[in-house]
Amino acid sequence: MSKSGIYIHIPFCRQKCSYCDFYLITNTKILDKFIANLLTEISLYSGLLKAHSFDSIFFGGGTPSLLTPGQVEQIIHTLNRNFNISFDAEITIESNPEDFKYDFSKLRNYAFAGINRISFGIQSFINEELKFLTRLHTAETGISVIEKAKEYYDNISIDLIYSLPGQKISDIEKSVRKAIELEVDHVSAYTLIYEKETRLYKEFSKRTNYGTPENIEREFYDYFTIRLIENGFKHYEISNYAKEGKESRHNKKYWEYDDYIGFGPSSHSKIKNKRWSNERNIIKYNIALKNSILPIAEEHYLSNDEIANELIMLGLRAKGVDTIQFKKLTGIDFIEKYNDSISELITNRFAEINGNIFSLTEKGYSVSDEILSRYF
Ligand code: SF4
Repeated sequence: MSKSGIYIHIPFCRQKCSYCDFYLITNTKILDKFIANLLTEISLYSGLLKAHSFDSIFFGGGTPSLLTPGQVEQIIHTLNRNFNISFDAEITIESNPEDFKYDFSKLRNYAFAGINRISFGIQSFINEELKFLTRLHTAETGISVIEKAKEYYDNISIDLIYSLPGQKISDIEKSVRKAIELEVDHVSAYTLIYEKETRLYKEFSKRTNYGTPENIEREFYDYFTIRLIENGFKHYEISNYAKEGKESRHNKKYWEYDDYIGFGPSSHSKIKNKRWSNERNIIKYNIALKNSILPIAEEHYLSNDEIANELIMLGLRAKGVDTIQFKKLTGIDFIEKYNDSISELITNRFAEINGNIFSLTEKGYSVSDEILSRYF
């Protein structure tokens, strides 16, 4: 049985970025109280998942780098006390460069606390773009923090955002080139999305034309892919690129339909065919845990159709649909059911079959949304 993952959600940020639609808390004064409740939540699961072993822990947010190394260590220690976690588990922390600007020692102390993979919210290496995105750090801070992090981590990931208003290929080239020069191990590249309820949307939705045209966006996407592949990265998920052996073990669990458990407000869990999610609101989350009650807001058992749908949607983003796994979990023969679509996609070189894996090609990746909505 493949091993499972643990997600820890830290819903705090120093400020809210203009394009972000996450539920966040900027009052960091209540962080200590939150950590106490988080530890209670982890302990409440003690003994419940004895049959599972875990080989990844992911601190996501929000901004987990607001935690002190001591708090990170305490969380990892509590997880180890309550779950069967491999000694060589991948332990990632999402971080904002700003949090290390005046304190490089925090990078070292996170490593001492058990973190072995660090993911920086770099977004761009161009100051005007960072300003537009209302990020707190500068390109120079991003570069110096990555350079320093290399002393302690041999697994460094960065996030980049593209399709900013007026952006050109030459702008993208600057950020991609810098990522390559810095020899990071992993790049996640996402398009800017104008989510409703964000400051960005409020500002831009008044304009008649906003957002990058689809054809330009695809050009940017292809550019990322070509440049990163040329420089030793493997394109292992629609938006993710990794050097050999540096794929995100944790995120692969979502795409490959393994089990995972989430702690913290709004986190999600999936164990076999059961899914549940936590209270999003931190007040409700805190009240439940103060009373030693699990802060679960919603839970349900997945139907065969839902499982089939998720296996396709998640699988085609990454390594593909595993037809053996598909049959085992849904009782449905994937090839038989989608025979016409599969043949058409293979004939047009949008997809391929290798053994029991049906996956999209690079050509298919760049039009994956259309493929998913039209064929499945
Ligand atoms: S740092 Fe990340 S999570 Fe926090 S507000 Fe900005 S985009 Fe959202």
